[in-house]
Amino acid sequence: MIYDVVIIGAGPAGLAAGLYASRARLNTLIIEKEGEGGQIASTDEVANYPGSIQDASGPSLVARMVEQVDEFGAKRVIDEIKSVELDGKIKVLKGANEEYQAKTVIIATGAVPRPIGCPGEKDLTGRGVSYCATCDAAFFEDLEVYVVGGGDTAVEEGMYLTKFARKVTVVHRRDQLRAAKSIQEKAFKNEKMAFMWDSVVTELKGDGLLESIVVKNVKTGEEKEIFADEEDGTFGVFVFIGLDPATGLFTGLVDMENGYIKTDENMRTNIPGVFAAGDNRVKSLRQVVTATADGAIAADQAEKYISETFEA
Ligand SMILES: Cc1cc2nc3c(=O)[nH]c(=O)nc-3n(C[C@H](O)[C@H](O)[C@H](O)COP(=O)(O)OP(=O)(O)OC[C@H]3O[C@@H](n4cnc5c(N)ncnc54)[C@H](O)[C@@H]3O)c2cc1C
Repeated sequence: MIYDVVIIGAGPAGLAAGLYASRARLNTLIIEKEGEGGQIASTDEVANYPGSIQDASGPSLVARMVEQVDEFGAKRVIDEIKSVELDGKIKVLKGANEEYQAKTVIIATGAVPRPIGCPGEKDLTGRGVSYCATCDAAFFEDLEVYVVGGGDTAVEEGMYLTKFARKVTVVHRRDQLRAAKSIQEKAFKNEKMAFMWDSVVTELKGDGLLESIVVKNVKTGEEKEIFADEEDGTFGVFVFIGLDPATGLFTGLVDMENGYIKTDENMRTNIPGVFAAGDNRVKSLRQVVTATADGAIAADQAEKYISETFEA
């Protein structure tokens, strides 16, 4: 079977593309390697997506998007695309489970949390180190938690973590936060929040579970090791220091800048019939509202490309 559109990734960009493509009566397949929703499924509060006020958690927004996509008949499968052949008129995508063929491809693979990159991080991920507050906050009920980062996501997720943790300390490399002023004001008022300025985490230690972190003051060069409270035995470190585009699969095939896919304003890449949408492309604002807009434009352009290329 040759699909009209295959969309790689079911985050907000991929789901919006699926909605627009299936509403245009294109034979549409969305391929997702994990659960639907992408990054936004990992947050408890989405306060800035227009129209989403009540019940505005990431998972509930995703559930509504998925329901809408299903209603219009896009097919969804769980599979991980491992390699692609994009230059022919018919594109071929090889997944871990199956091979797919399509007239057009929309790359909506998004981005993944950037790790600190320090010793101990890999081994202790899931054993005290996390990149998702909604997923893991409950494991830290009444424990101490350190949040690494100083942007909107770090501070907002830190505040969410105060609902569970005894104390949340934000470790930030600068002497002031980058988060929006309104978010900062809330954070400074929160009695469970503390701040460690000019500091970076240089090592995470523990035998099976996180037991201590080494923090370096970037101004003085001084390093100190912070141990978990003896009674607790462990604590949490949540990392929110930015994202890396999930575009490795397309390196050398699609034009990129610093790992982000280059598109024109119609989401077209340098390859005819191949579009990119969402956080994985060069753009200035990576949010749900821009990801869904990209997805809609990409699907609309895919439809135009199909009628010009296959139906002319
Ligand atoms: C903690 C947190 C809080 C946030 N809060 C907000 C907020 O309040 N408001 C807001 O607007 N934005 C927020 N964002 C940002 C927002 O989530 C992203 O901008 C948005 O999710 C980008 O959508 P996307 O579809 O481009 O990519 P993603 O959400 O990253 O989705 C990409 C999907 O592609 C899948 N995928 C990747 N590679 C493959 C492959 N090879 N094969 C198959 N599937 C693949 C991934 O598994 C993923 O599901 C937040 C992000 C985080 C991490």
